Amino acid sequence: MPVAEPTVRRLATEDDRERSLCGWGRIAPSSARVRRVSQAEDVVEALSGAGPGRAGLIARGAGRSYGDAAQSAGGRVLDMTGFDGIVSLDRERLTVSVRAGVTIARLLTHLGSIGLTLPVVPGTRYVTVGGAIASDVHGKSHHRDGSFGAHVRSIGLCVPGGEVLEISPHVDRELFEATLGGMGLTGVILGATLDVEPLACAWVAADVDRTDDLEQTLALLSEHDRHRWSVAWLDLLAGGSHMGRALVSRADPWPGEPTGVHGHGIRARRHGGGFDLSEKPRVEVPPRIPSGALRPSLVRAFNAARWRRSPRRERGRRVALGGYLFPLDALGSWSRLYGPQGLVQYQLVVPGGQEAQLVRCVELLRARRLPVYLAVLKRFGAFPGGPLSFPIEGFTLALDLPGGAHGLRPALDELDEIVAGAGGRVYLSKDVRLRKDVLPTMYPQLDRFLAVRARVDPDGVLRSDLARRLGLCEGGG
Ligand SMILES: Cc1cc2nc3c(=O)[nH]c(=O)nc-3n(C[C@H](O)[C@H](O)[C@H](O)COP(=O)(O)OP(=O)(O)OC[C@H]3O[C@@H](n4cnc5c(N)ncnc54)[C@H](O)[C@@H]3O)c2cc1C
Repeated sequence: MPVAEPTVRRLATEDDRERSLCGWGRIAPSSARVRRVSQAEDVVEALSGAGPGRAGLIARGAGRSYGDAAQSAGGRVLDMTGFDGIVSLDRERLTVSVRAGVTIARLLTHLGSIGLTLPVVPGTRYVTVGGAIASDVHGKSHHRDGSFGAHVRSIGLCVPGGEVLEISPHVDRELFEATLGGMGLTGVILGATLDVEPLACAWVAADVDRTDDLEQTLALLSEHDRHRWSVAWLDLLAGGSHMGRALVSRADPWPGEPTGVHGHGIRARRHGGGFDLSEKPRVEVPPRIPSGALRPSLVRAFNAARWRRSPRRERGRRVALGGYLFPLDALGSWSRLYGPQGLVQYQLVVPGGQEAQLVRCVELLRARRLPVYLAVLKRFGAFPGGPLSFPIEGFTLALDLPGGAHGLRPALDELDEIVAGAGGRVYLSKDVRLRKDVLPTMYPQLDRFLAVRARVDPDGVLRSDLARRLGLCEGGG
């Protein structure tokens, strides 16, 4: 894997636009001309001027996708983070309209102050709404709530040529669904109207179980889940039969007297829950961490201590909602811990009934001696998504591996075969190395997606490194 660069590194100062970009994994950087969007007209202008033979263009949110989805080598990138803000709130219909660059953090803080929240959020709050739609992100409640896209009422989308469309499940449904999880390849999302729901409390009641191996972990997560949120943190560095032991946590809003609710709002910061979710993490990993700072022996000891410290069975532990939903946000820029070679996150999903294939994947990584420093297992429910949406009913496993690990790529190629053979897929928003020949098997509705693209982007203007690598923008270049 190539040596990673800082997320955004300035290459030329004359026009302040040529920049090196990479994803959260800090792998596979490429340089592009970056324009910071501050009004819708900037996007319209960029897409009006784009045409055949011109360098590709792609939107970028907060750059928290792990791989190469939000960059375009030699092309143009529209940085949407400056095009933020909350446009309006409809308390009767329980909807909020926002600009695409607003972060989930800022939105949750605003909604929380008036006793509202979003039904679905990903594991980090520092992503934009545009990025959340383009990846059709999922949270810890997919088994109950589906993914982010299930709660999007409409999208304002600027397509190549500069036309701005308002699309929804009722207006151009094909384009709407292709935009959910469409990785920015159907247009630039300018804004969206999203469902909101009442927020009772800034705390959750969590039931935590400690399991001894992967079999027990899967059995526990397979039980009928009446809880709102559930997730398992797995120890894949534990030796012998302990591999896959886990802390499985399932949680619901704190019952009884709402804690932290004042009038219609949640008072920020006062309750130890840190409900001002827009603030930056208090601890930041410095740049230029040397390689080898994270070592298997170190992480193995940390995992073992964490597992041992947890009680075998605990019911109703009171945990701050923000800390429960976004545990990794406590440490800013944590991917720097992986050093100059960065990290690869491989996130797979296999359909229910194919758990044996998931176990095979874990065993293969162990047989290849590849260290998995972080492993998170979740359950997906049966909800429809877009043709490129990642979730299908079953189990999803996210694995963090050091980018420089010996034999990583061939081993992940082998995992692809197992996953595709089981009717599963990998998450494009985390991907940096998938081969394009595997894509149609993993995403059987790929042709539906490509048909929408042929209609809205016949010249192949919208192009990212991921799209080129996976053949998603072929035809136009
Ligand atoms: C610590 C951490 C935890 C995470 N946990 C989860 C999780 O639990 N569940 C989950 O699903 N994901 C998770 N993710 C992944 C993350 O939620 C997604 O990658 C999300 O898309 C990132 O949003 P972003 O604003 O950073 O977008 P970027 O990374 O900048 O872009 C991602 C994609 O969205 C497109 N895009 C961005 N903005 C627009 C726009 N305005 N119009 C059109 N396309 C656009 C880009 O072209 C690109 O294809 C996690 C990431 C991190 C770093």
